Amino acid sequence: MTPQLVQNIQHRREVMRALLFIICLGGISFFTINVFREVYFLAFLELAYSIYAIALLRIISKTDNFQRWVIAFLIPLYTLILYALYLPETSKSMFVWILAFPIVSYLLLGKTAGFLVSILFLITALIIYHVKFLTIGESVNIAESLNVIFSSALMISFAHVYEKNRESNEVRLLELAGTDSLTGVPNRLKLYESYRQWQRKNQDKQSTMSVALIDLDHFKKINDQYGHSAGDEALRHVAGFIQKQMPQGALLARIGGEEFTLQLTSEIDQSCSFLDKLRRELKETPLMHEGKVITITFSAGIATYGEDGTSLDALLACADKRLYIAKRQGRNQVCCDRNHAESTLNKELC
Ligand code: GH3
Ligand code: MG
Ligand code: MG
Repeated sequence: MTPQLVQNIQHRREVMRALLFIICLGGISFFTINVFREVYFLAFLELAYSIYAIALLRIISKTDNFQRWVIAFLIPLYTLILYALYLPETSKSMFVWILAFPIVSYLLLGKTAGFLVSILFLITALIIYHVKFLTIGESVNIAESLNVIFSSALMISFAHVYEKNRESNEVRLLELAGTDSLTGVPNRLKLYESYRQWQRKNQDKQSTMSVALIDLDHFKKINDQYGHSAGDEALRHVAGFIQKQMPQGALLARIGGEEFTLQLTSEIDQSCSFLDKLRRELKETPLMHEGKVITITFSAGIATYGEDGTSLDALLACADKRLYIAKRQGRNQVCCDRNHAESTLNKELC
């Protein structure tokens, strides 16, 4: 099973688990205190929320709808904290909970949703706090007001910078993990990921797709004759050449030493003609290396989605058999159909 090239939300599940534990313990503690203080409605809400947190502890480690569960937990939680802040019985120290809004929201929801949720609740909290604690008569206690405003701004800025960098680093790492470092084209991991995406999108449709397996001919000779760096340059030359020629929606990947795959969404006949044209044109576009002309050719086998299988492994296995036939028939040719190939030996397009 190939690993998936998708953003990892494991850290979010762990943050959520820690939050649920703390909310559960905090909720039960405040429930007890508020029962003694006879603030029954708030005590009841805190107990209910603790039970909700316990139930969610089981759900969040498995669910595919993690973001929805986070929102379904955070919005009522923040509302409950704002309600508690608003009640006459609560003290100024309640505000420390509000300072956690940006950190928790960004860590659990990411940059955009984290910003929206934290800004909305922070502003509401600041208004409640000012009206309840800082307004004496007509005037506001300016020094204390600036304290809460600046500490909130600091928290939201830190959370934003941290999450923005974390997200861009993750995107960069995913790009690197899916790219072949020599040629710059997608690698095997990326090929499998794109195929999964294509299958998800085209599950119910009668879409056409074919996969060509391309193997450079006598590549070892290029290494032996001109050196390994010429071989590397030849690989970059071929990758660049195919990328320039391939139609929109096609995906070129380097899956091994001198092996590439080309995923095409055209009909099989068009795919075969395209591959054969590519083969002829590559032969006529040699690599110039240190004043020497290096002619490169390839052999290819093509498999069609549906007819030759529906999994990428099945398609590659089928394309590989046809590639083998193309090699056996003398190389520098494209093989689209095995039965046809056996009966048309020595033809360039079988
Ligand atoms: P055939 O026509 O049967 O495919 O012959 P071939 O020589 O292309 O195939 P073979 O499998 O014998 O040799 C492949 C060579 O590709 C061997 C290996 O040294 C070379 N190779 C694999 N990866 C790289 C690479 O990244 N750079 C360079 N320069 N050579 C590589
Ligand atoms: Mg090979
Ligand atoms: Mg080869």
